[in-house]
This record gives sequence, structure tokens and C-alpha cells, in this order.
Amino acid sequence: MMSAACRRTPRRRVGPSSAEQRRNRRVMKISQVFGPTVQGEGSAAGRHCLFVRTFDCNLECNFCDTAYTWAVTDEKAAKTRSGKRYERDEPLYGLKHMDAAAVLDRLRALWDIEHRPTIIVISGGEPMMQQRELVPLLEQLRGWGHEVHIETAGTIAPLAEFNELVTQYNVSPKLASSGNRLSKRFKPEALAALRDSGRAWFKFVVTEDWETDLAEIDRIVVDVALAPQRVMVMPEGSDGRTNITTAQKMVDAALRRGFGLSFRNHVFLWNEDPDR
Ligand code: SF4
Repeated sequence: MMSAACRRTPRRRVGPSSAEQRRNRRVMKISQVFGPTVQGEGSAAGRHCLFVRTFDCNLECNFCDTAYTWAVTDEKAAKTRSGKRYERDEPLYGLKHMDAAAVLDRLRALWDIEHRPTIIVISGGEPMMQQRELVPLLEQLRGWGHEVHIETAGTIAPLAEFNELVTQYNVSPKLASSGNRLSKRFKPEALAALRDSGRAWFKFVVTEDWETDLAEIDRIVVDVALAPQRVMVMPEGSDGRTNITTAQKMVDAALRRGFGLSFRNHVFLWNEDPDR
């Protein structure tokens, strides 16, 4: 028979509560999980990493090289240079609904994720659209000691619970040359929040019309009080020759401003293979 003392002892919970279980089962919209590869762009270029690419974006850039994450209607496809409409359910790069456990299983299949450190790059699409859903995944990855880098266009401010799990933001604000209207692509309060995290690098894509683009970058740097040493410019272009030609034209103007220069190393190495 149970004693009175035993009856008063609160029952100890074993394992996660039902609220935690619900939270861990938050479902993300994912396009791809791939690697190991090298980070192709920005301040971490060349570093060993794995990529988790989220599905969907709140912008519609004409030069987007991952339009398969969002150009799934005729209207959206018309915003891209190619005009190509992608299938939402396409098996390789289309939409998958995955919780943290499913993404971790996929990462485990690619890398000894529990024992060998690397960078996990969460890219898109626009991953900041799914901050709450990403939290359980980021908690597990940080618990294993990985750096988590977020690639974003900088139009959505970070939530506190998300922000504390991020090692670095690679912010790529979009210019007029992207084809998005100003009110959609330029959110100074979001850029300021990312700047204030102290973990953001700002990388601007520069087209062949590099003087116009640099003038717009100058205005953003002043308006948002970005530190020039945290700013990089990167030539647009899906082939190595265009990358180098634009870089040669603009590099001195960028250096005078205190900006760094980024190439798109994956273009040189793998010619935009979406799995690399
Ligand atoms: S913000 Fe990035 S993913 Fe979204 S449309 Fe522009 S280039 Fe593509």
C-alpha cells in the first residue's frame, strides 16, 4: 500500500513535456539539405559547411539563383529573368514538410553531425520567414557545438528566441536592380536589428551597372549606419567570366569605401550545381 509520504511526493516527469514535444515537432518548409560543401560567398567563403535550404521567399529577385524555392506560379515565374515556373512538388528541390528530427536525420546521412563540427548554413528562399519553426533545429545544432549561419535578405527582424541561437547573419539586402519595389526590399528597422545583433555581415550583389548599384549601397550604408568593414560587394553572374569582369571594374571603388569583395566560389567550382 502507498504511504502518505509517497502520495505527497510530486510525480517526476520523465522526458519532454507535451508542450516541448509539440514545439519540437514544429514543421518547417524545406527545399534541400545538402553537403558537405564550401560556403561560396561572403565573409565565411571557403569554410566547410552543410546547407539547409528553406522553401519560400518574400521577395522576387529577377536574378535569383534559387527560384525553385518560390517561383511556383506563372505570376511569380514572370518576375525572374528565365521566366521558368517550377513545380512546388518537384522531388529534388520542391517543398518538403520536415520537423527538426527529419532534418537532423538527413544531416546525419551526410555528415557525422553529432561529433564533427562544421557550419550549418540555413539559406533559402528566406529562412527568416520560419524563425519559430527553425528554433528546435537550431537548439540541437548549437548543442552539438556547430556554428549556425543564417542567409537572409534582411527584410525581417530576428525574434529573441531565434536570435540567441544564431552565430552569424549573412545579410544580402536587395537593390533596385533586383526588380523588387523599394517598400518590399528595404526595411531599415529589420536591417538595424540585424546590425545591432553584432553578428551580421552585409553583402550586396552588384550588377554590370556597378556605379548605379554602388551609389545605392552608399545610401543604405548611411541610412542604416552600417560599418563599412562589415560590408562586402559581390558581382552578380552565373558564370565565372562575368563575375571576374564586374569585380575588376568595381574593386577599386569598393576598396576606397572600406568595403570587402566577395566572389561566388561555387560558380567557379561547380557552375551553379544546386546540390553543391
Ligand atoms: S531574396 Fe534571395 S531567395 Fe529570395 S528571391 Fe531574392 S535572391 Fe531569391
